[in-house]
Amino acid sequence: MSNKLYVVIPCYNEEEVLFETAKRIRIKMHEMMDRDLISEDSRVVFVNDGSRDKTWPMIKHLHEKDNIFSGINLSRNRGHQNALLAGLMTVKDYCDVTISMDADLQDDIDAMDKMIMKYMEGKDVVYGVRSARTTDTFFKRFTAESFYKLMEKLGANTVYNHADYRLMSSRALEGLAQFKEVNLFLRGLVPMVGYPTDIVTYERSERFAGESKYPLSKMLAFAFEGITSLSVKLIRLITAAGFFMILISFIVVLYTIYSYVVGYARPGWSSMMVSMWFIGGMIMLSLGIVGEYIGKIYLETKERPRFIIDEFIND
Ligand code: UDP
Ligand code: MG
Repeated sequence: MSNKLYVVIPCYNEEEVLFETAKRIRIKMHEMMDRDLISEDSRVVFVNDGSRDKTWPMIKHLHEKDNIFSGINLSRNRGHQNALLAGLMTVKDYCDVTISMDADLQDDIDAMDKMIMKYMEGKDVVYGVRSARTTDTFFKRFTAESFYKLMEKLGANTVYNHADYRLMSSRALEGLAQFKEVNLFLRGLVPMVGYPTDIVTYERSERFAGESKYPLSKMLAFAFEGITSLSVKLIRLITAAGFFMILISFIVVLYTIYSYVVGYARPGWSSMMVSMWFIGGMIMLSLGIVGEYIGKIYLETKERPRFIIDEFIND
């Protein structure tokens, strides 16, 4: 089996880290070539996501000096997920296997060997999973981990503590290419592709220079995107709330009858109380039912593949 590896790295305003990252990863690539883990024509592909600094000229410079480096320049800033997808979809026909990672090397590049070895054992997708988040601030850790738990509760299938550091074989990428949705949350889509998968754990380190391109506002938007693009369970909450209100309306009926009997109900009050809760409940329930259909339409419009075939044995 040949192992032509393309490492895909999205970069947005990364001039402070780019050369150092390139240097470290180049050493790593040659080390893996020497150990025959990957072929000599493997590449490192930087995807410039519409940076406003010198990132793209730097990528071109790297490519001129050493053809192990390649570059893709996006027409404008499209965000991390789109930049990553652009990179993966562009390289999938040129290589056997890809590894995606961030430009700041917060993800331990030494985990790549382990990923490649799992690939050689026949895994198509290998997730990099953070074993500890000691270097992240308490706040980042807390928000991130709550997010993974919430996703799980909502039934969105994601890998716990896995970001976008992962190996994917070219056939897994072919599968991913069939997901046409524009609301992109790769961490949720990759598990849907299927094929044999495995994980590799590593320790996440600090960004060695530059600052995070994910401030709190972007992180929240990203989390909301993840939840709404993978799950229609939020709509079911409306239905549940409707049922709950109708239940309350029955309790209110009992309470108004009681008040009437005891004698402190004013004329007109009982019917008001009951209809308010009951109608409220019916409205919520109807909204939930309508929402259920909208949820279905939503999933239909994504035109996701209904199946992906692993093998077909036939003489
Ligand atoms: N990134 C990108 N486009 C954007 C924002 C970020 O391509 O609009 C890239 C960025 O250059 C980095 C990766 O996405 O390689 C992850 O960003 P960052 O390290 O800032 O996120 P954090 O690790 O803090 O979550
Ligand atoms: Mg980072």
